[in-house]
Amino acid sequence: MKLLIKNGRIICPASGLDAIADLLIEDGRIAGTGQDLSAPGADVIDASGLVVAPGFIDIHVHLREPGFEHAETIATGTRAAAAGGFTTVCCMPNTKPVNDSGMVTTYIIETASRVSPVRVCPIGAITKGSEGEELASIGTMAAAGAVAISDDGRPVMNSRVMRRAMEVAREVGVPVIDHCEDLNLTAGGDMHECVDSVNLGLRPIPSAAEDVMVARDIILAEMTGVRFHVAHISTKNSVAMVAYAKQRGLPITSEVTPHHIALHTGHMKPYDSNYKMKPPLRCATDIDAILAGVASGAIDCIATDHAPHAGDDKFQEFEKCPFGITGLETAMGISLEVLVHSGRISLARMIAMMTSEPARVMGWKGEQARGALKPGYLGDVTIFHPEYPWTFDVSKSQSKSRNSPFGGRTFQGGPILTIVGGTEVWRAPGY
Ligand SMILES: [Zn+2]
Repeated sequence: MKLLIKNGRIICPASGLDAIADLLIEDGRIAGTGQDLSAPGADVIDASGLVVAPGFIDIHVHLREPGFEHAETIATGTRAAAAGGFTTVCCMPNTKPVNDSGMVTTYIIETASRVSPVRVCPIGAITKGSEGEELASIGTMAAAGAVAISDDGRPVMNSRVMRRAMEVAREVGVPVIDHCEDLNLTAGGDMHECVDSVNLGLRPIPSAAEDVMVARDIILAEMTGVRFHVAHISTKNSVAMVAYAKQRGLPITSEVTPHHIALHTGHMKPYDSNYKMKPPLRCATDIDAILAGVASGAIDCIATDHAPHAGDDKFQEFEKCPFGITGLETAMGISLEVLVHSGRISLARMIAMMTSEPARVMGWKGEQARGALKPGYLGDVTIFHPEYPWTFDVSKSQSKSRNSPFGGRTFQGGPILTIVGGTEVWRAPGY
């Protein structure tokens, strides 16, 4: 089993490689890169004019199975991942039942091994049922294959419980990911608190709801020594606090979603529920701080928070509909547009934020090493065109749900070929 990818522009940020070269994958793993490689009997892909990168990793998705298969399944969500150029996704535990035990973790991994074209790594819950009280079976879930713990959209309000969870996670060796939101400050809000929320007459969510929890978690992370990751960072104060924590050498990382860099409250179409998500779209000044944080390295990763919701659920009044939008298929297009074509960061840095950086957050090593084109690493590769124009047709999405504000938007550059373990799992129509 050999696959030879020829003449592509190979960009591997972790190895400092950016050159026109060939890449060989053998027996599911990276064998090497070089000029004029030959491999008798290998399948050959000509990647002339294309970028050849390590397989993209999304550490924040919702696959909805088990329990919410009307919105998404492991099969459909991972097809959307492959179509977006992702080769590994980490799925949040807010399924039904909640992934708070080794049994649910195993169910997800076994189902994925049958139906998923990409690698699926479950994230276990912090507390039983994500109810915020009693710790979930963190050690058992990690032993079954959970790569991190989080209660995501139902964040742990009790600081004592969070401290205990961090102590256990440190011993088990998994990072803690928090959706930082003080639910008491949010108090049923629908959008960011600003002049636009007043004008639209929608219930406000203040930036402080995120800021106070980022502050708490950084303090608890320092106290416990756990690896701590801030999910979908969205405010200027959060970015400043994470930057400060990093300056002090704490093992704290963060991610931003494509929609939080592409959209602010001024872009919201009145009462269009595709603009309702948590954290909410913030103000232009927050986006400026986030973009500066991306450029400075305060923000490590891009993660989609792909959150499919079925039509009937999502397309109702703004106040009633659930939070979240799909994101796997538009992540690369948005990131190229907002970060690279704008000149804010290099193409290599964007690739790092979607490959080696998320791999560092999760700490994959040995047999599980990924996120770079180094010999012995998993043979996962994303081949993309950095410039070709294409339009996102949400009605043709591989996801089971259609809740995206980016339908009809044209991007410059996007995925062409997705390769997992040396096997092609997705190819752009027409290529
Ligand atoms: Zn979240």
